[in-house]
Amino acid sequence: MTKSGISLITGPMWGGKTSELYKKLNMHQAILDVNNIILIRFSGSENRVESERIIPSLDNRIKIIYLTDLSIENIESIDINIKEIKVIGIDEAQFFNALRNFCLLMADEFSKTIIVSGLNGDFNRNTFGEISSLLPICDEIILKHSLCSECRDGTPGIFSLKLNCDCENNQVEIGGTDIYKTVCRKHYYTLNKKD
Ligand SMILES: [Zn+2]
Repeated sequence: MTKSGISLITGPMWGGKTSELYKKLNMHQAILDVNNIILIRFSGSENRVESERIIPSLDNRIKIIYLTDLSIENIESIDINIKEIKVIGIDEAQFFNALRNFCLLMADEFSKTIIVSGLNGDFNRNTFGEISSLLPICDEIILKHSLCSECRDGTPGIFSLKLNCDCENNQVEIGGTDIYKTVCRKHYYTLNKKD
């Protein structure tokens, strides 16, 4: 019997959040049956270029579904019986509305294991979606970090920095290392400073 609860994997971009999510899902799949696990990804990210992301492979028995809204109806509309599901992974969770309510419903009411991966903040270091509202309700928080791409000496990269931006809007622009880099506190401050 898989223990129900909510795990949150968070941190800046390039921090290995998806790798951690896949690792946990694969571990659960090893002891569960096919149809017991789903991975929910945000609809629109199907064609995202994965070449820059070094991530281990997901056990191919785990079904990946793409949604814009988290709900039981939406999950069951793609031929999945929610009763059979024991573990639900959610990737790029900062993009989902109603994330907190969905996680509470699944963990409290339906006793499922929820593993959520998402950014701890946007490139302005503001909260992103409902990730921070999971803090009071989760069993476990795993904070990942990258390495500062400016220091290049092993200093942890803890913030997502957007390059050449007006930084006022477009919180959800999806991009690679051409748009974003992960930096330490000192470099976040100096590179963001307006002259
Ligand atoms: Zn640095």
